[in-house]
Formats: sequence, structure tokens, C-alpha cells
Amino acid sequence: MPENKRLSKAKAGETILKQGDRGGFAYMIESGSVEISLTLPSGQPHHVGERGAGSIIGEMALIDDAPRTATVTALTDCTLVEITRDDFTRRLNHSDPIVQLIMQVITTRYRDMVHRVKGLDEIGGMALPDIVSREQQHPHENIVQSIRLENELKEALHNRDLKLHYQPIIDFSTGAVSGFEALMRWTHKERGFISPAIFIPIAEESGLIVDINHWALEEACSALKRLMTATGHSYIMSVNFSSEEFAQADFVSKLEETIRHAGVQPRHVQIEITERLFMANPEKVREQLEACQKMGCLIAIDDFGTGYSSLSYLHYFPIDVLKIDQAFIRNLLQAGNRKMELIKGVINLGKSMGMKVVAEGVETEDEARTLTGMGCDCAQGYFYAKPLPEADTLKNLNEWQPKVLKTA
Ligand code: C2E
Ligand code: CA
Ligand code: CA
Repeated sequence: MPENKRLSKAKAGETILKQGDRGGFAYMIESGSVEISLTLPSGQPHHVGERGAGSIIGEMALIDDAPRTATVTALTDCTLVEITRDDFTRRLNHSDPIVQLIMQVITTRYRDMVHRVKGLDEIGGMALPDIVSREQQHPHENIVQSIRLENELKEALHNRDLKLHYQPIIDFSTGAVSGFEALMRWTHKERGFISPAIFIPIAEESGLIVDINHWALEEACSALKRLMTATGHSYIMSVNFSSEEFAQADFVSKLEETIRHAGVQPRHVQIEITERLFMANPEKVREQLEACQKMGCLIAIDDFGTGYSSLSYLHYFPIDVLKIDQAFIRNLLQAGNRKMELIKGVINLGKSMGMKVVAEGVETEDEARTLTGMGCDCAQGYFYAKPLPEADTLKNLNEWQPKVLKTA
């Protein structure tokens, strides 16, 4: 089987990986079983063990470029998920430097041990210990699923199968659309719609989010330019960012370049971040956010109220907009609940600090009226519109009628 070929099936009896070959990838066995064997320096064949669904084979090649130490043969028909060295390196590069170092040390020791054990076997006829079999035999099914999804997501990005939908944000004082939030959509060829709540965390864990969100920013800015040109109105496009992007050294300059390239002004772009971003490296993040703000972009805190960080960050970081998480809006009007007081507090807190407050997940007219009464500035939610493709968004904009206006 050619080593450079991406494959997902192997027939019973087929050689999947060959001892001595080089190859920059491993496989996760999704279904079927394989035999691992090697040829000793004496020429004697040696059976190492068998592996089934959930096991990884050929993993050492992900870490170093040495020849494969064993041959893997399909015992039954197998479905295999490819993990390339690029995938692995990206994940490793996102991990703690200590983890990276330990991986290198373990790999070197392992290779060395295999070498010495083979030598012993030659000299004393000792049985080769099943060193490869100590790995976990059946890691959780979720791991297989998420690696598979990650590969498919990469293909989707490459094949332009990812799309953006736009959900309007309404200014309560005019009832008009003040901007949009760009939300990613992925319709899988076989599995249909996959929620971003599922694929975004996978993209974040693998580091793929950097490329995906870069595409999303480009696309959202281009769509903004088209919507403003078509309607003659100004809007603000809100784009979701992940902490992985802030970890890039050229984050701010790349952001500016992308916005300018699309022909829009930074003041029409809003960066949505969550409180999670503040945990890792607050000084650096503050610097980056200040640079974004200096450029003209707006900074919004998403899902406000769901994080664990202290409120003191509201002073420390430059924040223009506070988006109240939809969990606080749900059942807002149910008798006896204390959400009203909580939301009032949040709105007052944000406003006293000069921020704009947006309520997310507004689904009913009563909720909208209650929120305007509390002094909330903007709303977003199904009561106004669901996230829609660009063409439908433009159509709706042309027919937009204000629904609930702020009471004086
Ligand atoms: P989010 O940033 O909090 O986005 C708001 C979510 O609430 C969206 O879910 C939106 O469709 C949904 N929503 C809006 N109004 C209502 C409403 O009235 N009722 C209810 N029940 N839901 C409403 P969606 O599109 O499924 O996105 C889920 C999450 O995935 C987003 O939460 C965001 O964290 C992430 N996400 C989506 N697109 C992107 C992206 O381009 N980049 C990144 N990094 N994350 C994204
Ligand atoms: Ca958001
Ligand atoms: Ca949100």
C-alpha cells in the first residue's frame, strides 16, 4: 500500500504499514483489526500483537522521521482514519513546551529501547516483550469521531463547504439593524448540518481554528462591504474569535490587513471574544486588544455571565460592548425568577462603564419590551431573525420594519 496515499479502507490481508518504510502519518483504526509484526535482525518473523477499533498504529512516524519499526497487516477489512504529521505537529505546537519536550525524550528512548531489545533477542534468544501493546486498547469512541471530524473539517475548509450566516443585531433606540453577527455553518455531505457548537471546539483543539477563522473574517468583511454597498447604509460586522488566534505573533497586523483588503473600515468590525481569553496571558491580550481598538475595531465580550473570571477584568481590558448570554434571557419573564434583577444589574454595570449592552437570544416581543424598559441598547435573537445566508439577509434588510422601539 503506497505510504503517501490518503486512505480509509484496507482489505483483509493487505499490508497497511511496512517495517523500514518512512511515512509521515499514522492511522486510527475505526473498524476492523490488524496484526503487528516485525522481522528480527536474524530474519526471524516476530508477532507483536493485534489491535482493534480505537487503536492507533504507526504513531511513532508522527514524532520523528525514522523508519517504521513494525509491519501492520489487516486481519479483517478495516476502516482507517489518517492522522498526518502536520495534524500532529499543529496539536503539539499548541501544547505546553514541557509536553513537547517530554514527547521528544520519550520517542528517543522508545526507539533506543526497541533497538536494544532486538539486539538482546539476537544474542540470548529472549522473547521480544510486547512493548507496543501497553497503549490503551480502546480509547473512547469520541476520540475517533473527533479526529475523523477534524479531517473532514479540513477538507470542508479547503473545498469551500463552510459558509457564513448573518444574524441581525437591532438597535432598540431606532428599531433598525445596526449590524450582524457572522456565524459559521457546515453542511456535511453525508451527515447533514453539524452545529458549530460541535465543530468549533474540535477546530480549537486541533489549531485548525486559526485558518478557519481567518477565512471567516475575510468572508464576513467582504459580505459587509457588499451589504453596505447594496443598501447604502453602514453596519457593524461582529466576528467570533478564539484564543488560539490571539496566540499568533502577527495576529493584529494580519487582522488589519484582512479588514483593509476587504475594503471596509476597522470601525465597522467588532471582535467577539469570551472571558476565556483573559485567563492565559492577560498582559499580552490587553496589549493586543488595545492595538485592535486603536486601529478602530470594537471589542465585544460574548456570553457575558457564563465565565469564571473576576469582574475586575472589565476595568483591565478595553471593552466596548457587553453581550449578555442567552441563558439569562431564557424564561426571563417567568414569575418568581430572579433573572430580572440580575440582568438589570448587568445592564447598569455595563452602562456605568461606558459600554453598549446587547441581549442575546431574544425570542419574544415581551422579552424585547422588558429589555428596552431596563435600558438595554441592542438585541439579537429569533424574535427578529435567525442567522441567514447573505442573499436572504440583503432581501430582509430591504424589507425591514422596526418591531419594538425604546420607550422614552
Ligand atoms: P455564540 O457566539 O454565542 O452565537 C450565538 C448563538 O446563538 C448562535 O448559535 C445563534 O444561532 C444562536 N441564537 C441566536 N439567537 C437565538 C435565539 O433567539 N434563540 C436561540 N435558542 N438561539 C439563538 P450557533 O450559530 O449555533 O453558534 C454556536 C456557537 O458557535 C457560537 O455561539 C460561537 O461560540 C460558535 N461560533 C459560531 N460561528 C463561529 C465562528 O465563525 N468562529 C468561532 N470562533 N466561533 C463560532
Ligand atoms: Ca458570538
Ligand atoms: Ca453569545
